Amino acid sequence: MKKTPFVTKEKVEEIVKTIPTPFHIYDESQIRENVQKLKKAFAWNRGYREYFAVKATPNPFLIKILNEYGCGCDCSSLTELMLSEAMGITGDSIMFSSNDTPANEFVYAAKLGANINLDDFTHIAFLEETLGKLPECLSLRFNPGGYFKISNSIMDNPGDAKYGLTEEQLLEGYRILKEKGVKRFGMHAFLASNTVTNDYYPTLARQLFETAVRIKKETGVELAFINLSGGIGIPYQPDQEPNDIAVIGQKVKEVYEEVLVPAGMGEVAIYTELGRFMMGPYGMLITKAIHEKHTHKEYIGCDACAVNLMRPAMYGAYHHITVLGKENEPCDHTYDVTGSLCENNDKFAIDRKLPKIDMGDYLAIHDTGAHGFAMGYNYNGKLKSAEVLLKEDGSYAMIRRAETPADYFATFDCFPEYDSITRKTR
Ligand SMILES: *Cc1c(COP(=O)(O)O)cnc(C)c1O
Repeated sequence: MKKTPFVTKEKVEEIVKTIPTPFHIYDESQIRENVQKLKKAFAWNRGYREYFAVKATPNPFLIKILNEYGCGCDCSSLTELMLSEAMGITGDSIMFSSNDTPANEFVYAAKLGANINLDDFTHIAFLEETLGKLPECLSLRFNPGGYFKISNSIMDNPGDAKYGLTEEQLLEGYRILKEKGVKRFGMHAFLASNTVTNDYYPTLARQLFETAVRIKKETGVELAFINLSGGIGIPYQPDQEPNDIAVIGQKVKEVYEEVLVPAGMGEVAIYTELGRFMMGPYGMLITKAIHEKHTHKEYIGCDACAVNLMRPAMYGAYHHITVLGKENEPCDHTYDVTGSLCENNDKFAIDRKLPKIDMGDYLAIHDTGAHGFAMGYNYNGKLKSAEVLLKEDGSYAMIRRAETPADYFATFDCFPEYDSITRKTR
């Protein structure tokens, strides 16, 4: 499928008058359209709820859009909990799916009344000791180990993942929770990431539903919810077929009716914790070509770098690039598109076929709406960019300002001898 940017060159030229590049931009109308499709796909399940994975795109202006459709927040750290709280999203609207969790984060989650999802068997005792008493609702994260396969192809390797409890620990865990007075139980699993197939959720659901039936038989614990978590992917490459959420919802329904309903478990709520699927395609990094370099290869240097989008440097991930205004020109040049870090892996694209790029051209780097801005860091003292929302009516708004040197130096503000640098830059 041809990847088309959701902003034009003219729109970017208008935006840069007030917000210079680089910046991430998000498309409100597509975000709304997509969340409505998701809700429709799972409308057959009475208790269905999406808890947006805050770590994917921790911007309150974007999360609030999802919250209008009833989405809660999936948090995994103190600051993500604080962000949810600031948006007024608390209590049952938070899923706290953390791991290696510090005590103070459990305390904060419990104070907000969040659903706590435990990553390990030992966390049961840890939580009880930390809080004095277990909360009434608790969820356990399952990791069956081995390889996660669909038909015969390996999707991912849970046996090598740090998350979750084994099946035996899970059964023992529910027995203990029940004994200790927990009233509402959940189960969670995240077994494959960025899956571009309609079969991931249905395959996962079958495994979890069958486990849920076993739990009921062996411990008497009836789960209130099963959390399929994240992992539904997006087509980063133009030749990939996007997932069809309606088909996914329908297939999960079939497995639900086949496995859970006959076991008398037709009231179990399905939860999801999608991140990438909710936002990924609806964000782009806009950057300007500022240098061209002709050495052993042809390089285009732009004003963004891996600090703004780490996935290519970190995973060698493909992100499609469109040269704005040249959408229909032939891709008859081969470039490495680079950022400015003193790190040779700071390349948004390697040997990429693109139209001829001129200095000052704007590049749209696609699919940065999830795990894009959020993964940013400050290596080389580079600063994080602004985030911009393209609204439904075509206007735009800044939804996070760019970092300034003052932000970068802020953690020296307790040292008087560096007061000059923290003050000067403010
Ligand atoms: C990262 C994460 C998610 C979201 O994953 P996506 O691949 O963005 O859908 C959901 N739940 C947990 C616990 C996670 O760590």
